[in-house]
Amino acid sequence: MADDPMQSAPPAPKTAVGTRRPFYLGYDSLLTAGFQLGSPFVLVWILSWYLGVGREPGGLFGEHNFPPTLLLLIPTIACLVGIYRLSDQARSTVLDSPCPCCGALHRRTFGALSKPSDDAVACGECAAYLRIRGLEVSEESPAGMHGYELWPQRYLPRARRSPDGEHMLFEMPPMCATCGAAEAPQLREIEEWGARTAAATSGGILGVVADEVASEAFGNARYRAAQRRSVATAPTAEALHDKALSALTVPVCAQHTEEADPWDAPCQYRCGRILWRSYRYYKAFLALNQIWEGRPPANTPPPAPDPRSS
Ligand SMILES: [Zn+2]
Ligand SMILES: [Zn+2]
Repeated sequence: MADDPMQSAPPAPKTAVGTRRPFYLGYDSLLTAGFQLGSPFVLVWILSWYLGVGREPGGLFGEHNFPPTLLLLIPTIACLVGIYRLSDQARSTVLDSPCPCCGALHRRTFGALSKPSDDAVACGECAAYLRIRGLEVSEESPAGMHGYELWPQRYLPRARRSPDGEHMLFEMPPMCATCGAAEAPQLREIEEWGARTAAATSGGILGVVADEVASEAFGNARYRAAQRRSVATAPTAEALHDKALSALTVPVCAQHTEEADPWDAPCQYRCGRILWRSYRYYKAFLALNQIWEGRPPANTPPPAPDPRSS
């Protein structure tokens, strides 16, 4: 590149350099770590049991052996799911690094490259999503289309309410919420995060099945507990946030209406979180609504409880 004093090139993205850690330090829960790391050992034990019993008179399907033969199929499937997840975790990159946007030091797990939906990771302090090249951490590109979550702690202080108090209102950046086109005359409704997104973004049938089984077992335990509570008792704050978000609409171009592009919702909600498909739109939404993007100020109060949740 010639030395050109003109500022024609966009500013280089800020980067930070991290220190790589072993993959097993990247687990955020002991339960998940135990499930994944224990799966190969349990599977070996089950297979050796099958081999041993298979050599006995009557074999696996003998009168006394048939029930345990059948029952052990359940942990066998669970172990295969655990090994599938473990292989993902083992191929991920666990980095200790500052965030290039806010400087917050964190350990972050950058997903396996076989799952592009995994590889932009939330800073954990500021609103930025991060990506790595080798040990270099930089902010997600504005062109990123991998799903970016906005938590109630960030958006609640800036949410306005509809006159009847039922719904939250926000300013929406005047461009297509999927591709960023300036011409975005139509409105598309927010969707509840659902199975069709999981099927569309996961790799292959095995991935879909394994993701579903694993999230049944562990990943969504909190979500399911919240759902059960909301059925059993009064609705939770998360369920009330979801209800208040459910009337949001975003502008889209003719190519990204629900009819033209039904599989890739630009904006979804779940457990009180707003999930954006486009990083460009996510950042524009934060800026337009003056939603706090940086580290939480000291002594940040917890999000105000919904007046109707009590
Ligand atoms: Zn940050
Ligand atoms: Zn568009």
